Amino acid sequence: MDNGRRKFLKNGVLASTGLFLGSYLMPTTVLGRGTEGRSELPAILGGEKTHAAAWPSWPVWKTPEYEAKVLEVLRSGVWSRAKVTAEFERRWAEMVGSKRCLSVVNGTNALITALSQSGVGIGDEVIVTPYTFVASVQAILLNGAIPVFADVDKETFQIDPENIAKKITAKTRAILPVHILGIPADMDRIMNIAHAHNLIVIEDACQAHLAEYDGEKIGTIGHAGCFSFQNSKNLPIGEGGAIVSDDETFMDKCYSFHNLGLPYGTQAGSLAGAFMVGGKIRFSEYQAAIGLVEMQDLEKATALRWENGQYLDRLLRQIPGISPAKMYPKTDRAVYHLFPFRYDKEAFEGMPRSLFLKALNAEGIPCSSGYAPLHTQPFIKAAFDSRLYRKVYAPEEIDYAAFLENNSCPKSDMLCNEEAVWMTQNMLLADHAAMDDIATAIEKIHRFAGKIQKSQK
Ligand SMILES: *Cc1c(COP(=O)(O)O)cnc(C)c1O
Repeated sequence: MDNGRRKFLKNGVLASTGLFLGSYLMPTTVLGRGTEGRSELPAILGGEKTHAAAWPSWPVWKTPEYEAKVLEVLRSGVWSRAKVTAEFERRWAEMVGSKRCLSVVNGTNALITALSQSGVGIGDEVIVTPYTFVASVQAILLNGAIPVFADVDKETFQIDPENIAKKITAKTRAILPVHILGIPADMDRIMNIAHAHNLIVIEDACQAHLAEYDGEKIGTIGHAGCFSFQNSKNLPIGEGGAIVSDDETFMDKCYSFHNLGLPYGTQAGSLAGAFMVGGKIRFSEYQAAIGLVEMQDLEKATALRWENGQYLDRLLRQIPGISPAKMYPKTDRAVYHLFPFRYDKEAFEGMPRSLFLKALNAEGIPCSSGYAPLHTQPFIKAAFDSRLYRKVYAPEEIDYAAFLENNSCPKSDMLCNEEAVWMTQNMLLADHAAMDDIATAIEKIHRFAGKIQKSQK
């Protein structure tokens, strides 16, 4: 990205922050509202719901556009990977500012492919956050490697570079930073660690479409970035995934791997027959058609989520015991696949998170506790117990009790078990009044925390 564009992005962010501060009147308007009558009571105590209207649905069915594009593919009779898929890849590479893009069946397989084609395999350790979707870790195990968990910074919900540095051994091959919840990880420090130790960085950007950090799109800072287009994601296709990278040789290999090991790019023509091991994880023309339509609205929706997310962030920070996720200094834009905050029950007269969630859901504000601890789930033990792992690793390398001990992640556990609250990205596509309702509802629950608890006894 050139300097002019970088400057533009930075100034744009500053300008919008300034605007935002200027119109910031929350303490008197939002939090002071609803002090009379039945609307005063939280819904869980029989009051009216703070937010009775429906939230924006997801995904959005843009009937005429979808149908024209999908029908065109349907009527063409060309349904396997062909020119619509190639166009999708060109456009996605362009949108994120990468030289190349390869579409695959889903984000999980994008990660599996990117790790395997960057040389990660048996005997290697890959450092990853415990606070992520299970696929990030499955992708490491499916390559026969060992996941090593580096605990998070609770304030950002992201992997903490300090903990990454502590986990590096002679066997470390790669870092898999996940921009979890659509919030950029601390990429400057992660890349510095990677350079110092000669490690590969594969970004799991499956929740971070068009997030920006230091003037770059997330997914283009490491050696490769992986995206998901599963139905819940900010660019939904049903299923789908992509790998982006500027490394042509690597991308040629990913292409071959995704297409039965057949030659591609510089290798096509010079090699006959399948020349490497490969599966078949190709996109279809239907997926590409839907993706191309979805891409048209992505920038606009992303900008809206960021704007509403910042607005909501400022509202919620006013409420005792509520701490929205902080951003690292070079973050130009988070995309809030989920909007997270930490809930401190001490500020709510000891109300357990589960009751807080129940009360907030009753207000018409859908919310959840998010991830459960991942590093203690049985699939890792199952991998260590497998014939493959027992054959290729020494017993002490797959000693599960030792693994649990070395991989304890108390901060991530705290988020999972006690503190994290999530709202989904589609809620940030509503208006400021809806964001105000979220703050009003939480403030109400805060005010009535004691009574709510008594009512449940
Ligand atoms: C969704 C997701 C994946 C996997 O993507 P799929 O398309 O569902 O296979 C991987 N990592 C993270 C962080 C995700 O959120």
